[in-house]
Amino acid sequence: MLILAATPIGNLSDASPRLREALANADVIAAEDTRTTHHLMSALGLTTEAKFVALHDHNETAKAAEIAELARDRDVVLVSDAGMPGISDPGFGVVRAAHELGVTVTVVPGPSAAIAALAVSGQPTDRFAFEGFVPRKGQTAYFTELAREPRTLVFYESPHRLADSLIAARDAFGADRPATVVRELTKMFEEVANGALGELAERFAGENRGEIVLVVAGATVTAMSLEDALADVRARVASGERLKDACREVAEVTGIPSRDLYSAAIAKPSAP
Ligand code: SAM
Repeated sequence: MLILAATPIGNLSDASPRLREALANADVIAAEDTRTTHHLMSALGLTTEAKFVALHDHNETAKAAEIAELARDRDVVLVSDAGMPGISDPGFGVVRAAHELGVTVTVVPGPSAAIAALAVSGQPTDRFAFEGFVPRKGQTAYFTELAREPRTLVFYESPHRLADSLIAARDAFGADRPATVVRELTKMFEEVANGALGELAERFAGENRGEIVLVVAGATVTAMSLEDALADVRARVASGERLKDACREVAEVTGIPSRDLYSAAIAKPSAP
């Protein structure tokens, strides 16, 4: 059987009795970093006879079938360094391979930074989209693609890139969009910072520390006809905004694609 097991994201007390039992009784432990898992087990006071196999981003494709094969007649526990394996961590390839082989896959659920951050953020939780890590390049274009998404958005981010990403998010989603920077969950310096993206970009300017999840409220879409939306665009242009910016902002509020507003505005520059 393949057992996906979640491990603490900072606080050892979050190790569940089922996690302890799974690790202590495993025949094989597939770990993202075997040293980290040895360290966790010794901190939990667990000993094991299990064989350790390293499973990381760089070898998952090669190792997935082999680990799934081991799980045919042995209990293979798959863990990452912290949180839920497979969530921005190795695991998916092995799970897929196990299903293909008809091997039973089960889970020992537990901490995951994305879900914990969403729940604590105060942003709407009824619908959300987990985006994984913000890409290292082209953040503004990436966020702009997401600007009209009505679901709450959850991103993982490195402390070194947080400041730049908040600026890019502010530019793409608008300075007033509510968001939350969630830092160091379950650890001594846990922080849940709520604010508009404009404020957060200022507050987290410069160097930051710790592990971070950024949660951004979804777009609020106001039902509006194309004509009314165009009138809004024209009013903004008349008061000095660039046409492109006006289209982007009205698109964000109405859900009408910015390019449609732009083409309509060019085709019909002023009201009849
Ligand atoms: N699989 C893990 C999970 O389920 O939480 C996520 C692994 S991903 C490689 C690591 C990222 O998760 C970090 O860069 C950070 O964005 C987020 N993260 C992990 N632990 C965290 C914590 N204690 N507080 C805030 N974010 C955390």
